[in-house]
Amino acid sequence: MKIVVLPGDGIGPETMAVTVDVLQAASHRFGLNLDLDHDIAGHESLKRHGATVTPELLAKVKAADGLMLGPMATYDFKDEARGEINPSKYFRKSLDLHANIRPARTYPGMTARLGEFDLVVVRENTEGFYADRNVESGGSEMLITPDVVVSLRRITRQCCERIARSAFELAMTRKKHVTIVHKANVLKIGDGMFIDACQRIGREFPDVAIDDVIVDAMMAHVVRAPQKYDVIVTTNMFGDILSDLTAELSGSLGLGGSLNAGSDYAMGQAAHGSAPDIAGQNIANPISLILSAGMLLGWYGQRNGKQAFIDAAAAIDRTIADAIAAGECTRDVGGSLGTREAGAAFVARLQAA
Ligand code: NAD
Repeated sequence: MKIVVLPGDGIGPETMAVTVDVLQAASHRFGLNLDLDHDIAGHESLKRHGATVTPELLAKVKAADGLMLGPMATYDFKDEARGEINPSKYFRKSLDLHANIRPARTYPGMTARLGEFDLVVVRENTEGFYADRNVESGGSEMLITPDVVVSLRRITRQCCERIARSAFELAMTRKKHVTIVHKANVLKIGDGMFIDACQRIGREFPDVAIDDVIVDAMMAHVVRAPQKYDVIVTTNMFGDILSDLTAELSGSLGLGGSLNAGSDYAMGQAAHGSAPDIAGQNIANPISLILSAGMLLGWYGQRNGKQAFIDAAAAIDRTIADAIAAGECTRDVGGSLGTREAGAAFVARLQAA
């Protein structure tokens, strides 16, 4: 399996370095023969190539079997005409990675403030309220007068149905329960269509229970009782916000794994951003990126019928859970280790697994 590795901005390089160590340990332990191809995106690429991402990089990524994308300083990238492209959007759109899978769970050894839970947010990734991916060329945010802005949200039946299918297929491997999160009381047509598409696809999965919750109420419900949920399917912006909340509810934003998957490509990417407030201090939690790397291996194994990759993904999950239980983690999740030291502990556990 060839994986292109792009460290990203802020805490990206330090968390990706640890993730690469874990991938190499997994490769060695499970005989995966991983081929990691290191390149750059974000600020580093802007400096060297005049653009945060380049068509040459996209060609290389397309020729590989998967991508690990570090967190990017997307808020800094304002003007595409000056090469300031949001790399996350660029790969999600160019590779048609329609499903953003974001698990959140509590771990033994950590205080579970809201009780134990284990859920997954399945977020549509290619349209919705994201002005940078809704139109063929340019953005879908318009300055009508100096004081009036119109931002367009695009919702298509095709994208609703395919994200619904991803959610129901996932639910079949879990507790068989899908919750549709929407705002159909206000966005009557767009979210009305989203609910309708989810329910239609749901009929193909008669064993899966379905309910739906309005997104604002969902914020209260998920904080009150996250264990009521299994798979949550929602549109792009709601899923982005809700999955940061569920990651933090599990203990830290630094625990949120994230896979962006399409029909024939996948990209592992931390759920969090580039965290400039803690960059370069060796305190960032690398677990989010490591879990995302594990998800990428698992996706590849499932798709190609390669059990060793599925086993490696499971071993990475177990390693993280065992390390957290033993307090071998960064301080945001109750440990006392630095980023590098936590990574070394994970590698030692994986080698011994
Ligand atoms: P952020 O997710 O970077 O950070 C939010 C808070 O969580 C900060 O206090 C940070 O220190 C903490 N945090 C984040 N990751 C952590 C980790 N691994 N370990 C410990 N603590 C962690 O959000 P932000 O500060 O609003 O955004 C910073 C930059 O990241 C912006 O440019 C934003 O656009 C970008 N961003 C990128 C992505 C992405 O690449 N997928 C996602 C979200 C935000």
